[in-house]
Amino acid sequence: MPGGTDILNALKKEMDKPYTFMHICGTHEAAIAHSGLRSILPDNLKIVMGPGCPVCITPQGEIDAAIDLAEKDCIIATYGDLMRVPGTKGALDSIGKDVRVVQGVHKAVEIAEKTDQEVVFISVGFETTAPTVAATILQEPPENFSILSCHRFVPPAMKYLLEQGEAKLDGFLLPGHVCVVAGYQEYEQFPVPQVVGGFEPEDILLGLLMLVKQVKEGRAEVENAYPRAVSREGNPKAMHMMYEVFEPCDVEWRGFPIIPNSGLRLKEKYAAYDAQKKFGIEIKHVEKHSSCICDKVLRGVADPTDCKLFGKVCTPRKPVGPCMVSHEGACKIWALYNQKK
Ligand code: SF4
Repeated sequence: MPGGTDILNALKKEMDKPYTFMHICGTHEAAIAHSGLRSILPDNLKIVMGPGCPVCITPQGEIDAAIDLAEKDCIIATYGDLMRVPGTKGALDSIGKDVRVVQGVHKAVEIAEKTDQEVVFISVGFETTAPTVAATILQEPPENFSILSCHRFVPPAMKYLLEQGEAKLDGFLLPGHVCVVAGYQEYEQFPVPQVVGGFEPEDILLGLLMLVKQVKEGRAEVENAYPRAVSREGNPKAMHMMYEVFEPCDVEWRGFPIIPNSGLRLKEKYAAYDAQKKFGIEIKHVEKHSSCICDKVLRGVADPTDCKLFGKVCTPRKPVGPCMVSHEGACKIWALYNQKK
C-alpha cells in the first residue's frame, strides 16, 4: 500500500467538488479523531458518523428493560459503557442493584457458574459480537444464565438511511470489523459507492480515495480497501453459528423507528436463555424528551458540536446522552479529541 502522504496527495488531486461520506463504525470515528485525519483532509471532504456505535443505538426502552431485570434481583452483567447510558429510571450504575461490568459473555457465564442467583448478560453489538454470544449459548451455559438480546445488523440501518435520504451522502466507508465476520456481499444490494475500510490512517485515506474515484467515474460498487482482513464471504462459520442460535427480528434503534429484520432474537429452541421470556420483560418505545440530539448524530444529519449541550451540560464526566457515554460514541470522541466540523 502506498504511504499515507502519497494517498492524501492523490486524494487532494481527485477532489473536484464537495463530498460527504458516512462511516458506520465507532472504531473508524475513534481512529479518525486519534490520528487527526479530519484536520488534514481537504476542506470540502466531510466524514459523518452513522449508527455505528452499538451502545449509542440501544434505545431507552432496552435500557429500561435491563433495569427491570435488575429490579427482579437478577445479577446484571454488561459492558462498562452501557452502565452509564440513561434510561427513563436512571442508568444501570445508579440504581443500587447488583450490576457488574464484564469484558464479554464468557465472563457473565463464569459469574452464573459461581452463584444460584439469576445472571442476565445485556448482549449488545453488531455482527461482530453476536457469533461469540451464539457460541456461548451452544455450549449450554448454566440454567441461571440468560441474555437480553440487544443485537443489531448494520445493512438494514443503511437501507433505511438510503431510503429516507435525510443525510445527503455520496457513499459509505463500510465497517471493517463487521465485514471481517459478515463479509460484504450483503452491501452489494445498495446502489451507492461503498468501500470497506480498515482502521490505520492509511486504510481510511485509501478508502476515501477509492470512494471519490467511484463517484467521479459514476460507479456504485462495493470495493475492499481492507483485503488483509476482509473477504467478500467473511467468516461463514461464525455467521452459521449466529443463525443457528438467533433469528432476525424487527427492532427500534435509537434515532430510528422500527427497522425490519435489523435485530436478533434467540430462536424458540433457545428460549430458556431468553431473559425477556424467562422474566416476562417487555421492551417499550420511549418518546424522546431531552434536548440531546444523539438521534440526529446517529443518522448523520448533525455533528456533535451542533448540540447546544455539547461540552457545557454534557461532557464525558457528566454525559447526558449515550453518544457522550460510549468510547465509540461520536460526542465523546469529539470531546476528547477536540474535533471540529
Ligand atoms: Fe446528546 Fe450530549 Fe451528544 Fe448532545 S452532546 S447529542 S446531549 S450526547
